[in-house]
Amino acid sequence: MIGYEEAIGKVLERAPGPGETESCPLAEAMGRVLGRDVSSDVDIPPFDRSGMDGFAVVASDLEDLPATLEVVMDVPAGVVPTGEIRSGQAASVMTGGVVPKGADAVVQVEWTSGFGGSAVTVERAIPPGQNISPLGEIARAGDRVLEAGALLGVEEIGLLAATGCDPVPVFARPSVAVLSTGDEVVPPTAVPGPSQIRDVNGPALAAFVASMGLEVTSLGSVPDDRETLAKAVEAGLEHDCLLMSGGVSAGAYDFVEDVLAGLGVQTHTRRIAVKPGKPTVFGTRGDRMIFGLPGNPVSSMVIARLFVAPALKKRMGLPARQAPTVTAVLESDIRKKPDRAWFVHGVLGDGDPPRVLPLDARGSADLATAARGNCLVVAPRGVSWIPAGQRVQVVVWERSL
Ligand code: AMP
Ligand code: MG
Repeated sequence: MIGYEEAIGKVLERAPGPGETESCPLAEAMGRVLGRDVSSDVDIPPFDRSGMDGFAVVASDLEDLPATLEVVMDVPAGVVPTGEIRSGQAASVMTGGVVPKGADAVVQVEWTSGFGGSAVTVERAIPPGQNISPLGEIARAGDRVLEAGALLGVEEIGLLAATGCDPVPVFARPSVAVLSTGDEVVPPTAVPGPSQIRDVNGPALAAFVASMGLEVTSLGSVPDDRETLAKAVEAGLEHDCLLMSGGVSAGAYDFVEDVLAGLGVQTHTRRIAVKPGKPTVFGTRGDRMIFGLPGNPVSSMVIARLFVAPALKKRMGLPARQAPTVTAVLESDIRKKPDRAWFVHGVLGDGDPPRVLPLDARGSADLATAARGNCLVVAPRGVSWIPAGQRVQVVVWERSL
């Protein structure tokens, strides 16, 4: 049985990287991953730009105050000034306007009197450069402003707009299929019979995939029958990633590993020293990857966060790294067996460092407790007791809205 670190190392090493790049309209690029480095085609800003409504001046004219200057031009935004400013002169400029040549500072209108006239009186001195964004301050034409692998969020979209990058080269999104297995599994819309259970993993894993901004194909559930299972897995492997759940334990009807081997899937992990989620299978066939997740819903969700998310991120073209953690102070003891690392749902609060309350779950099917949590407290392998007050690592995820 390999440890968490070793397992995540294998998953990150073996998970395929991004595929083709494609062209995406800037307006639809939110949440996509940049497929190649992007350089600016212009200087940003493209001219010495005024950051204030006021007067472009020669800063050294403001040594004796108040200073009265001759207003020789008016420069609204969007207009190219004709002529230059000399000592003793000023130009009225608006925010976003071009600072005329000869001026080296802009004094804001609030520090002046006589706005609108042919002379202005300035009441305060300012250093050279004040309230001017010099040409190319943010980027020069040809400078790389974003690197391949950048996740495109609000700020990145703005930067791409500024650099004229529309359409945007992005990595094609991997397609993901989700498959549940088990003779006892019925759809959520059915009323389960006396031996049946509703399919929790299918909808939960599909939601998890959607939360990463990916399209998901739900393949429903199949019974524990080798042939049916093999057909469903083959259909799932038409996608870049197949997430299946159930059938990976050591039970008499747990065929997933056999079926995968029969289909030429190379298995890289089969037992990981984590709780929940020990029987996690990760395999690849060419550039396709497949996870055989435990049937217990909480286990499959935890493994999705710990292993599937990093693997899918790598496949999407994002930097390959394990689930991010923060440091928090434990609010109550954790007692455990030392043979595996435990990932315990917890409630992460505020504070510096934040406090985290580990939740007492009734086994790996305790969805209600998992839903109360907002993080996973890491209780490492080899440790049997973590007392309250100790600092721990906590795996966190974004909950949008
Ligand atoms: P297995 O890994 O197939 O041995 O399943 C372990 C446990 O998870 C059993 O109690 C199954 O009934 C349950 N289980 C398996 N698949 C699902 C599913 N899709 N939704 C809810 N529970 C499941
Ligand atoms: Mg099963």
